[in-house]
Amino acid sequence: MNASSEVPVVLRRGVRPPSGAPAQASMPLEGPLVDGYGRVHTDLRVSVTDRCNLRCVYCLPEEGVPFLPRAEILSFEEIARVAGVARSLGVRSLRLTGGEPLVRRGLVELVRQLSTVGFDDLSLTTNGTVLAPVAAELARAGLHRVNISCDSLRPDRFAQIRRRGQLATVLVAMDAAEAAGLAPLKVNVVLISGVNDDEVLDFAAFARRYGRTVRFIEFMPLDAEGGWRRDQVVPSEDVLARINASWPIEAVKPSEGDPAPADRYRFCDGGGEIGVVASVTRPFCGTCNRLRLTADGAVRNCLFSDDEVSVRTLLRSGGSDEDIALALRRSVWGKLPGHGINDPGFLRPSRSMSMIGG
Ligand code: SAM
Repeated sequence: MNASSEVPVVLRRGVRPPSGAPAQASMPLEGPLVDGYGRVHTDLRVSVTDRCNLRCVYCLPEEGVPFLPRAEILSFEEIARVAGVARSLGVRSLRLTGGEPLVRRGLVELVRQLSTVGFDDLSLTTNGTVLAPVAAELARAGLHRVNISCDSLRPDRFAQIRRRGQLATVLVAMDAAEAAGLAPLKVNVVLISGVNDDEVLDFAAFARRYGRTVRFIEFMPLDAEGGWRRDQVVPSEDVLARINASWPIEAVKPSEGDPAPADRYRFCDGGGEIGVVASVTRPFCGTCNRLRLTADGAVRNCLFSDDEVSVRTLLRSGGSDEDIALALRRSVWGKLPGHGINDPGFLRPSRSMSMIGG
């Protein structure tokens, strides 16, 4: 990539959603989890709770958040069972999320159970506020790595965006995670225009200094308050151009079978890596391989789709593993070609990010 900020930055995967008729006419009952457009699903995101100890402005309102009743939340055994069935259908990576996964009591035990299922990659996304004391225990239980969300490197602004918690605690959690071997560490930054987009270069310098992969995420219309506006989205292309003007970067070729949402870039001088998740400006639905399990046991095939298939009912009414497998297959099979954020008739999903699990 040229060092000039005027050089348009080409995102690695400007993949358009597949269009036209589905590749296959009927849902296969064996083989990998495939949708009607041929996308094979190998990545499961499991929300273990809709509760969170923060109230980030792009996610939750400051007050009055209704939470699911305890009885509706899947037990660890129920989650592990669905995970096992997913593994048997070819799912190779599992990420725990929420809400804030670490506010769910005893999460280490769930990690222990999941580690016996045999995923290639078992990870956790967390806000880092209560991670440090349990990082080593999580690693011993079989967790491979963590992504830590941190939207500002300035204590006052951190408090303004996250409304609760402290930057210092999260920075300590990053050190603790690395010391425990939960690496490579990724740092998630949701950029909002006029709020924290003046910190792009600070975060790039942070990535270079600590060897942590900072991933700049475009603000998506998934905030519970419905306040998202398109002009608040900071296009990933601009982020890359700004970084490139200070420290030249080049695209990292994705490894075979790695449809991770982030487009990866490395600093040309060997100073580490950054990533961008351009969900709004350059959707990567064409290579999407993710499905989700919500805390109350609904399988979702897309953050932005309201299509849900409940496995909780099956789990609690004597359903077999084959029944669960069929539910997973049905959900994936019903996936639309794209999330549709940029379509004129786009409707926000009824559940927000903290309810679905990011
Ligand atoms: N509580 C954990 C955390 O903060 O990382 C895990 C759950 S959180 C919903 C997962 C990720 O979604 C975080 O990186 C968060 O910043 C991101 N996120 C939440 N709302 C978002 C939105 N409206 N647009 C883009 N990213 C969002």
